[in-house]
Amino acid sequence: MNKTLRLILGDQLNHAHSWFQKKDDSVIYLMIEQRSETDYVRHHIQKIAAFFVAMRQFCAEKQAQGFEFMYYKLDDSRNLASFGDNIISVIKNLELIHFEYQQPDEYRLDEELAALGEHLRENHNVSHQVYSTEHFLTTRDEVANLFVGKNSFLMETFYHYMRRKHQILMDKDMRTPLTGKWNYDHENRKKLPKDIFVPASKTFDKDVSNIINMLATQKVETMGTIANNNLVWATNRDEALRLLEHFLGEQLAHFGAYEDAMSATHRVAFHSQLSFCLNVKLLNPLELVKTVERYYYKHQDSLSIASVEGFIRQIIGWREYVRGVYWYNMPAYSQVNYFNNQRPLPAYYWTAQTGMNCMHVALKNSLEHAYAHHIQRLMIIGNFSLLIGANPQAVDDWYLGVYADAIQWVQLPNTRAMSQYADGGQMATKPYIASANYVQKMSDYCQNCKYNPKLRYGTNACPLNSLYWNFYETHRELLGKNHRLAITYAQLEKMEADEKAKIMQQATIYLEKVNEL
Ligand code: FAD
Ligand code: SF4
Repeated sequence: MNKTLRLILGDQLNHAHSWFQKKDDSVIYLMIEQRSETDYVRHHIQKIAAFFVAMRQFCAEKQAQGFEFMYYKLDDSRNLASFGDNIISVIKNLELIHFEYQQPDEYRLDEELAALGEHLRENHNVSHQVYSTEHFLTTRDEVANLFVGKNSFLMETFYHYMRRKHQILMDKDMRTPLTGKWNYDHENRKKLPKDIFVPASKTFDKDVSNIINMLATQKVETMGTIANNNLVWATNRDEALRLLEHFLGEQLAHFGAYEDAMSATHRVAFHSQLSFCLNVKLLNPLELVKTVERYYYKHQDSLSIASVEGFIRQIIGWREYVRGVYWYNMPAYSQVNYFNNQRPLPAYYWTAQTGMNCMHVALKNSLEHAYAHHIQRLMIIGNFSLLIGANPQAVDDWYLGVYADAIQWVQLPNTRAMSQYADGGQMATKPYIASANYVQKMSDYCQNCKYNPKLRYGTNACPLNSLYWNFYETHRELLGKNHRLAITYAQLEKMEADEKAKIMQQATIYLEKVNEL
């Protein structure tokens, strides 16, 4: 058949892609619930369900528009072990002559499909072509090009570049930031007041019993839970837009101020929960920031620039930046382990059964909802993982599995580099670690904890306190010369020898019984 096969991956649900600008009878689209993708790490059950529902809805929507789609469910008898096997089989059966795919965002799939393209050309006389996903604001190497010759990549420098390049929140002169300031981060660190009204999370109820049963029948190993087989994630374009509307109307005004706040009662607070929709490309990042910017200009009386700038920075700053860092460093980035940490993760990462209330709440949220907001990921679970010297591979695997939005290009730099400092400081100028002081300042977790946040050692002393100082003492050789840690190391020097010995002894005890904390 004189036809082209176009592959669409599960995170390539871009309704506006130029492939869909006009119908072409010589094109067949293929989507696959690929077994190798459910198994390369143990995923949260909601993550797999959300991906499969979103893929099925995308396919149905495009079929309704008249595009020719083949869709292999996970248990379809035609569905083979790998993308390569499936694609070769379809090409042979239909006698197709040309194969096309969009650039995968993950290194693993990028390699796999590039090798497949070569194989098809050499062995099957089938040509191939790779397209952009038309999603990101930057090319894969744009971040690296900006930092040629530099040891560390400063996000803030990249962020200014992006604001100018896309003229977002810029003054009329097109060079200076609106209101004269680039960044309002220091205004975005407030604790959640007790009496603040927090809107309920926007949910989109879907009974996914059929998918849950299929995963069980196919013996796919998962983690986490899904209450009543009800999937609440936005999984199609219409729901993504409604989630965005909810964010603009109900959450954006407080996003900035309480961005770093944590609460046992309000697990989402004013965070958007848009990451899944963004990462599977139901939403376009430029479309998103332009919408937010327009909303700001229309509602300046009720919106602070600090909130709007804070949100936009996450999208055109952090999100694009981590992608650039990922492509610059892969595949070596998935192996870095600056501190040579080797400890396996304690079992409570899969059960949330720990007496440390901060960890209990953050792990429970993650396991029950396939979601935790940024500070829970970074300053609670990430912090503890680094303080106990957890193996970055184990930490990566856990993060890549547990969150619905976890795709390696965004998960790995955030986890291994930013939260575990395993790259030795390319992304973060110093490790993101904290003692109970920070947790107490930014959350209500400590008030219901069996541990005492004020104590560094002794009965029920908060484990974070001794582990914090133990971390700096242990890594003195690697971190002692970091000028951003000068004050911390000076504090350590000034500590009475007896006090210091007790703290280190406490840390040793806690590390020995880390699985029972
Ligand atoms: P909001 O707080 O509402 O932020 C808005 C959007 O900004 C997010 O949807 C996201 O697209 C973007 N964003 C914010 N921070 C970052 C960041 N550091 N890197 C990239 N994008 C960012 N994000 C993922 O999308 N997938 C991951 O697997 C992932 N793993 C993480 C692991 C760790 C250890 C840490 C510290 C962060 C991780 N993040 C990840 C970034 C961030 O925590 C999530 O994007 C965010 O919590 C998603 O929730 P939200 O949509 O409510 O975000
Ligand atoms: Fe976490 Fe320590 Fe506070 Fe308990 S006391 S919630 S362990 S920081």
